[in-house]
Amino acid sequence: MRFVSSAVGSFLGLVFPSRCLVCEAPLHPMRDCPLCPEHFRKILLVEPPLCSRCGRKMSGESVEALVCAECRSRSTYHDAGHSACAFAEPIRYLIHLFKYGKRRYLASFLGRLLVDYIRDRADMAGYDAIIPVPLHWRRHWTRGFNQALDLARPLSRHFCIPVMKGNLRRVRYTTPQVGLLGKERESNIRNAFRARNPAKVAGTRLLLLDDVITSGATLNECARVLKRAGASWVTIVTLAQASGTWVVPEPQALSGATRA
Ligand SMILES: [Zn+2]
Ligand SMILES: [Zn+2]
Repeated sequence: MRFVSSAVGSFLGLVFPSRCLVCEAPLHPMRDCPLCPEHFRKILLVEPPLCSRCGRKMSGESVEALVCAECRSRSTYHDAGHSACAFAEPIRYLIHLFKYGKRRYLASFLGRLLVDYIRDRADMAGYDAIIPVPLHWRRHWTRGFNQALDLARPLSRHFCIPVMKGNLRRVRYTTPQVGLLGKERESNIRNAFRARNPAKVAGTRLLLLDDVITSGATLNECARVLKRAGASWVTIVTLAQASGTWVVPEPQALSGATRA
């Protein structure tokens, strides 16, 4: 019976690993973490100076402006932002396993990372709902789940903010943003979303959640639609931020683990 339930759990991606997902060192059975202490310590949490509007790390001349160059380069519709980790190893690898590697159980660990980061740095009072960035139904169908919704649940539980599903819809199938430049990303994603029931978001303060922020074009387009539907405030929340400045340590340590 135990074998059957673990086989089913494994198929669904729900069984927690007994070994570190990076180096395969045995994990403490009571520790609800898929990494050994050494690899857990390599997670790079993002520290100030941060952009007040998107939460990304700033450098150089943009520090004094409090808003990063990316946010200043276009009309931004989100009012604030938090982004917990660098999109570098081992987080990049865990997100990859979570989205594409049948390791859906990682949502609880990754969501908790996000909760811990935000809890120590932001006031979460006064929000009406968390809205996960939606997938187009075709992508949802091939992946089987929306990673943003899975990450929203731990936040919802911890901060007692309901998740609003199904209102923000992805109505246009878009090619992946990977490989596109800033302006191309903006035009690729333009008019891809719609608020199905604007009355439900009118006057609300919202958390808009996604797994990774790269250029921010997708989150900004969602925020534009929500503001046009009447939302009074939109804070974007992401687990990780991609940037050319992050060092990616230990590729050799990960190469063996990509078999998993
Ligand atoms: Zn390890
Ligand atoms: Zn910014």
